[in-house]
Amino acid sequence: MNSTAPAIVILGAGALDTARRIAACYPGAQVHGLAGRVEADIAYSELSAHLRELYTRGTPLVALCAAGIVIRCLAPLLSDKGAEPPVLAVAEDGSAVVPLLGGLAGVNRMAREIADALNIAPAITTSGELRFGTCVLNPPDGYALSSLAQGKRFVSDLLAGESTRIEGEAPWLDDAQLPRSSNARLAIRVTPQAWNGSADELLIHPRSVIAAIGGLDGDIVGHVQDALSANGIAALSLAALLAPMERAGELALTEAAAALGVALRFVAMPTTGNNEQKPHTLLVPAMRVPHDILAGDSPVALAIARAPVDPFSVGQTRGRLSVIGLGPGDARLMVPAAREALDAATDVLGYETYVTMAGPFRADQRVHGTDNREEMRRARHAFELAAQGCSVVMVSSGDPGVFAMAAAVLEALHESGNARWASVELEILPGVSAAMATAAQAGAPLGHDFCMLSLSDNLKPWDVIENRLRHAAGADLVMAFYNPVSRARPWQLDKALDIVREFRSPETTVVLGRNVGRPGGQVRHTSLGALRSEMVDMRTMVIIGSSLTRAFSVNGGVEWAYTPRWYRQG
Ligand code: SAH
Repeated sequence: MNSTAPAIVILGAGALDTARRIAACYPGAQVHGLAGRVEADIAYSELSAHLRELYTRGTPLVALCAAGIVIRCLAPLLSDKGAEPPVLAVAEDGSAVVPLLGGLAGVNRMAREIADALNIAPAITTSGELRFGTCVLNPPDGYALSSLAQGKRFVSDLLAGESTRIEGEAPWLDDAQLPRSSNARLAIRVTPQAWNGSADELLIHPRSVIAAIGGLDGDIVGHVQDALSANGIAALSLAALLAPMERAGELALTEAAAALGVALRFVAMPTTGNNEQKPHTLLVPAMRVPHDILAGDSPVALAIARAPVDPFSVGQTRGRLSVIGLGPGDARLMVPAAREALDAATDVLGYETYVTMAGPFRADQRVHGTDNREEMRRARHAFELAAQGCSVVMVSSGDPGVFAMAAAVLEALHESGNARWASVELEILPGVSAAMATAAQAGAPLGHDFCMLSLSDNLKPWDVIENRLRHAAGADLVMAFYNPVSRARPWQLDKALDIVREFRSPETTVVLGRNVGRPGGQVRHTSLGALRSEMVDMRTMVIIGSSLTRAFSVNGGVEWAYTPRWYRQG
């Protein structure tokens, strides 16, 4: 089974139509065209190098050219049969599809799918497949073949005329034309149990076993393997590793799951009287299908379901909290990583205006817009949701670390000491701050040393603001004022400007950015002498230049302000 989309490789425009029809069968499939000959999704310059590279990466290949060309290109790489992706040759005009390689990776299934789309019969040559209508050695998702060597022997016995029993549940073989007989020597056995030594069996393991660990440290992989073998269970039957939610932040668990080749899932540890983390108590709340539990004395408990278990249905994933900045407003000024986080979010939180700016959202995404100015409460809410396994995005405008939610989120985490919150995967993604957006439209007023100040005295005393203004103005720093005024803070900007005027001349360059990057946004140039607080509201960014910031316009056109890279005392 493979879930990677195939690369559809063509040499000329004549194959484009067929290539597009094939691509339509596979979401995410792209057409690769020879540069200079045909325009496609991806250009390549040399066929054999390109095919070899795709093959080495394990990409399924559909080449619209002669089978012989494909064979010659890939011949040097054909040593390891186990690892080969499906490779098919298709006639340019769509009249033939020939599966070439990747019998165990589902090449015949792809050949049938493509043939269906092209309305032709596939050129299947695999004898077992032709005879039985399925590749017995290629069980569907959720099942794993125990041993390829054993499997090949088994199929050649069947081809030689033997029949087989089926032991266990193999629903995908219901429609196969297998020669069956209840007293056959050969058996296809579907079981989580490890091989019992019988040479007459084709063993297929359903991925139906979940291994739970509690507080287990040290060699986790070794302990899980020991528990499996002590119970006679095949390692290939393991579907997921389950651990207490509190441990979700531990790298060792991620590595153990990767080494075992299974998914890592979590569940909240049930509260018991004692603190001992008994692993079997995790299994009951995490499993959503009927199962038996093997606990014993091992630090690993095993749940065995009656059928393959979708690991994503067990417990929950590690929760995630992304604190993002939307930039000033224009969607093009949002970093792509923030857009990705929004697309992947289950829950979006933030101040109503910004949440609306971040939308629209899908019906399956919960939006918790709030007018609530209580940032700490919002931050705690975000952690609560993420600790339940949600993918939460907290939105701020501009940059989340500049007078916005990132600091509140970190403070909430720092103060809580909550192990469930600490297990959340936390990331903070930067954004274009209002000062940067305004500066860029005006030119480069922040081209030399500058500072960002919030004039809001909601969260800090006014005398601290005055003190910082005096020092910044005295040091001749360019200043970017956030939160310059509001209805509740009418006099503060005038007071701040009085202080700055003690240090800077009336000619000092000033840039005002209002609603930058949003509809109706504008940037104005003025001077410290002409600046009046009526020109400023709470959606305005005020940039006060240093003694060296200057403005000019070329031939009466656009006005540019900049602060030179060098400095000399005025
Ligand atoms: N995190 C935000 C700042 C939040 S504080 C950022 O990095 O941009 C809010 C203040 O930012 C406002 O009072 C205003 O001074 C400024 N601001 C935010 N968005 C703005 C915009 N689009 N245009 C001008 N100023 C803006």
